[in-house]
Amino acid sequence: MSDTLAPVRPGRLIIGGEAVDAASGATFTTTNPATDEPITTVAEAGPEDVDRAVKAARAAFEGPWAKLKPIDRSRVLWKLGDLVLEHADELARLETLDNGKPIFESRLVDIDMVARCFQYFSGWSTKLAGQTTAVNPALFTYTLREPVGVVGAIIPWNFPMIMVAWKAAPALAAGNTVVLKPAELTPLTAIRIGELALEAGLPPGVLNIVPGKGRVAGEALVKHPGVDKISFTGSTEVGRHLMRTASDTLKKLTLELGGKSPNIVFADADLDAALKGATAGIYYGKGEVCGAGSRLLVERAIHDEFVGRLVERAKKLAPADPLDPKTRLGSLVSRTQMERVLGYVEAGVQEGAQLAAGGKAQPVNGKGAFVQATVLTGVDNRMRVAQEEIFGPVLAVIPFDGVDDALAKANDVPYGLASGVWTRDVKKAHTVARRLAAGTVWVNMYGFYDPGMPFGGVKGSGFGRDLGEACLHDVTQVKGVWLNLE
Ligand code: NAD
Ligand code: MN
Repeated sequence: MSDTLAPVRPGRLIIGGEAVDAASGATFTTTNPATDEPITTVAEAGPEDVDRAVKAARAAFEGPWAKLKPIDRSRVLWKLGDLVLEHADELARLETLDNGKPIFESRLVDIDMVARCFQYFSGWSTKLAGQTTAVNPALFTYTLREPVGVVGAIIPWNFPMIMVAWKAAPALAAGNTVVLKPAELTPLTAIRIGELALEAGLPPGVLNIVPGKGRVAGEALVKHPGVDKISFTGSTEVGRHLMRTASDTLKKLTLELGGKSPNIVFADADLDAALKGATAGIYYGKGEVCGAGSRLLVERAIHDEFVGRLVERAKKLAPADPLDPKTRLGSLVSRTQMERVLGYVEAGVQEGAQLAAGGKAQPVNGKGAFVQATVLTGVDNRMRVAQEEIFGPVLAVIPFDGVDDALAKANDVPYGLASGVWTRDVKKAHTVARRLAAGTVWVNMYGFYDPGMPFGGVKGSGFGRDLGEACLHDVTQVKGVWLNLE
């Protein structure tokens, strides 16, 4: 299909089933970070547009969406998954242009996740159920599991279309309607999925897309009294601010925030597998991954040999053109992000870590926000590079001695999103899995996601869950009904 080579159309807001301009007429330009070139312009939503979108979502929630049978909701969501697969090349190209990630990731990994997410949750529409309860023989008591209403979704730039699916699929499956604000840096695939949803038969107003600034469109969504819940994925700092802002209207919240996830390699592990998992765990997605294994904890007995091999692998992983299917390390999302990441490398070296690989910007064809695959060794858990989320291809390597030391170091950060454990000892694997303060533990694997498995954090990584059966509790509420039989 030649549409994969076509110029990118300007993006518009999707409100009430129509592509529209912003009420103010404002637009912004979205840029390809790999070439520093503009891609296209996008309508920029302001408070007035957000208000219109929320009203459209409310009307749809009370009208056509509520009247559909669950099996028909299910069919529309399944169809949307099919349409995502049919438009895989187009969507993947948009994602790579907008974000800088390798086309290998957007075409072969992200598309599959988006389609599976809509199709997995389509199955839940018909399976959400209440209970009959045993309170008193003179009563008939039961519960209804109901949608919460209008869900406001605010998402980051690192997995733009996956985040649309994670937020929208379960919310819609459960009968809610959605107003979604994509990140300023990457609005294009959210808009396209909004269009495909209409093509799939989603009634107007069920899924509205309002690209715009966090402090303007995002803030308007969080403050809007017509929004029942905010589902947010982004930084811990904005998450904190959002929780304060949402308190005025007592909104329900799901907050998926940052991470500083430990990837723990014990001496008894399959070290070849651990090596691959450690590398992919940090360099996949350019390290702009909330669950990235950004702290590599290595047991001292194998530390030097293992880290030596790791450094060799990192040095071979050169940044390259994201549109080349062979590329495995793309451009960071922006020059600002590149500067931030390089600043952390410098801070690490100043605090006494050794720069064992990478550490520099490496333009491709003289352009872009590319950063080398970087390894910092001799990192102490107290250093900033061990405590703060860098969100780039920078691995901090920390030695440890035995299970207790590994756990003490692993848990000694403000975050608790994901974690990895590499060992051949089954008891050790399960014991460590229980004691890790994290929402996800991968054993002898790292960085795998599935719509059927919950994802989310503890501590500074937030609360609530995306995906899995667990997330359905976050987009529904329970009503108790009492009937007097006497
Ligand atoms: P960010 O917090 O700056 O922005 C996230 C979203 O919030 C954007 O859409 C932004 O426009 C919006 N926003 C910003 N200020 C706002 C405000 N005052 N009110 C309402 N909305 C506002 O984060 P980012 O830089 O886009 O993304 C990177 C962060 O996201 C990292 O910390 C990363 O760990 C986190 N993340 C977490 C997960 C997870 O599942 N836990 C997944 C992906 C990314
Ligand atoms: Mn962009």
